[in-house]
Amino acid sequence: MNTLIDTYGRVHRNLRVSLTDRCNLRCTYCMPHDFAAWLPSEHQLTTDELVRVIEIAVSEGINEVRLTGGEPLLRPDIVEIVSRIKAITNAPILTMTTNALTLEKVAQPLVDAGLTRINISLDTLDRDRFKLMTHRDRIDDVFAGIKAAQAAGINPIKINAVLLKGVNADEAPALLEWALANNLALRFIEQMPLDAGGIWERSALVTADDIYADLSTRYQLTPCDDRGSSPAEEFFVNGGPATVGIIGSVTRPFCGACDRLRLTSDGQLRSCLFSLEEMDLRTAMRNGASDEDIAARFRKTVAGKLPGHGINDPKFIQPQRPMSAIGG
Ligand code: SAM
Ligand code: SF4
Repeated sequence: MNTLIDTYGRVHRNLRVSLTDRCNLRCTYCMPHDFAAWLPSEHQLTTDELVRVIEIAVSEGINEVRLTGGEPLLRPDIVEIVSRIKAITNAPILTMTTNALTLEKVAQPLVDAGLTRINISLDTLDRDRFKLMTHRDRIDDVFAGIKAAQAAGINPIKINAVLLKGVNADEAPALLEWALANNLALRFIEQMPLDAGGIWERSALVTADDIYADLSTRYQLTPCDDRGSSPAEEFFVNGGPATVGIIGSVTRPFCGACDRLRLTSDGQLRSCLFSLEEMDLRTAMRNGASDEDIAARFRKTVAGKLPGHGINDPKFIQPQRPMSAIGG
């Protein structure tokens, strides 16, 4: 069994695959409402190319693949993509992160194709706030998507929420109450400097400590055991078994346990969300690279991985690619 191990001893098992950089929302912390700097569509990996890269990644030791974007459900052949990944020998655990706008129709076909887990992004329960935060009036579609995922038996369903000062920062306890009532696993994510509009400001950050303090006014939180390579610090709520997660990407970096690699929709392999370098798999594949050559590119990318993301380093440089084009 091959393993992708870096110079700090971290074994890489998890590949996040961006299926497209396009999206049907415009979350303010991700992209401006008039964002138009999309990747050229001919650069997007075809489904054959995608499946080939994932097959090679699995042969190198990857055992979990998360489909993301942009919005992964915008890929018209999403169900075929899922079933082709599940057909790979030693198929990886397959998960997806989605805004769920169009999940209602495809939840059952996705499950039939082999998807078992899903993360759905929802930052607010309030229609007006949703509109303000995403520039689209589509909160009902998200709720319908969540219901469809539950009806299709997807388990667990995690909810990702980003809190913004002056917008939804007061909503942590209400989101948790709703998640508990609906048997959903809620995780809060600190806002990261990865948006296309460059609006991130450290002084405006709702920190992991802020979220913990706010939740603690209403709930008793006790830390769960070892988080492994999970980015979320998990807490039992009122003694459990329900939990809530807080991902302190900025104020509580978890780079020391990182097991993730990222493949952009235009076929660039990255060792970190914040990498300034990429390994070009698309051009290599289109120029006839062998499977061994692609596998060697995986190993080289992992070997060059830095110890941490450096957000808190004064010399930090925000990557040119925004979150939507890397795959969150
Ligand atoms: N469109 C899908 C969605 O929103 O679930 C998948 C892609 S999105 C980039 C993946 C996750 O990244 C979402 O949960 C979103 O909230 C999160 N995200 C986007 N921009 C972020 C930022 N600047 N800081 C922290 N999380 C961010
Ligand atoms: Fe789209 Fe997801 Fe970015 Fe929101 S966070 S704009 S849903 S890619």
